[in-house]
Amino acid sequence: MKNLRYLLPLVICLTLLISCNEKSSFVSFTYPEGKTKALVLSYDDGAIEDIQLAKLFDDNKLIGTFNLNSKYFSTTRGWPQQNGDTIYQRYIPKDSLLIIYKNHEIAAHGAYHKNFFDISDEEILEELNTDIELLEKFTNRKVISMAYPFGNANDSIAKLVGSTGLLNGRTIADTFAFGFPENDMLWHPTCHDSKALNYLDAYLNLNQQELSVFYVWGHSWELKDETRWNNMVTFCKKIGQSRDIWSVSHGELTTYKLALDQIQMEGNQISNPSESLSVWLKLTNGIKELKPGASILLNP
Ligand SMILES: [Zn+2]
Repeated sequence: MKNLRYLLPLVICLTLLISCNEKSSFVSFTYPEGKTKALVLSYDDGAIEDIQLAKLFDDNKLIGTFNLNSKYFSTTRGWPQQNGDTIYQRYIPKDSLLIIYKNHEIAAHGAYHKNFFDISDEEILEELNTDIELLEKFTNRKVISMAYPFGNANDSIAKLVGSTGLLNGRTIADTFAFGFPENDMLWHPTCHDSKALNYLDAYLNLNQQELSVFYVWGHSWELKDETRWNNMVTFCKKIGQSRDIWSVSHGELTTYKLALDQIQMEGNQISNPSESLSVWLKLTNGIKELKPGASILLNP
């Protein structure tokens, strides 16, 4: 027992020495736990069918981002279609947001789903600021993501939307690819969910060091169609079983990406200045978590 008194400081010193002098070199940045692939599921409008979809995500341990029109909560509204039909939407009740979306991100989609191509800059800001204010009031959560109503956006609208403090804006311009956008405020998704199964195997088999994202978007009300619902179930089950894909909200992926942009690399030292987010690195001797405010001194 007596020897332990000498052993403990020695162990502490050795631990400190090892943590300061990793005999290793930097390979690449990764997502949490060394993953390099991510999945974002982004769903619009806040129709009552979100309840079933959020449950499907929960059952498969997947995270969704739900872009909501806060002025329609608890209402039923008719949407005239180009072919003369009218689609009636029932919207989720506002007092159930934290139950339905407990495990998911709540994001903005314009208070009244107005078309940003048809309204003034002031009205666009009003649409978003009202939506953000109501969503934050109803949930006590910070809103940092949005999807453009009807997918309509351009460079000047994106700049305007960025001025609200939102960190991303999703369009509906499918890229059919797994890369990142040039501008987070014009974030083009991989594909609509009706095509997601076509790209699933390609993503599951993707094996690259570079970070990627499979970005799927859609509407839960479209999944009332039985075939499409069954396809979505298949997609979620299969991708939910994949251990090497980070299922993440659009907001969390964006903040992680921003944290990576802030990393400082000077000589052999890598520092994470973030006050709240860990970032992950692949080193030649393994995966390393760099906690908020932490630095690592590499010693190759
Ligand atoms: Zn919409």
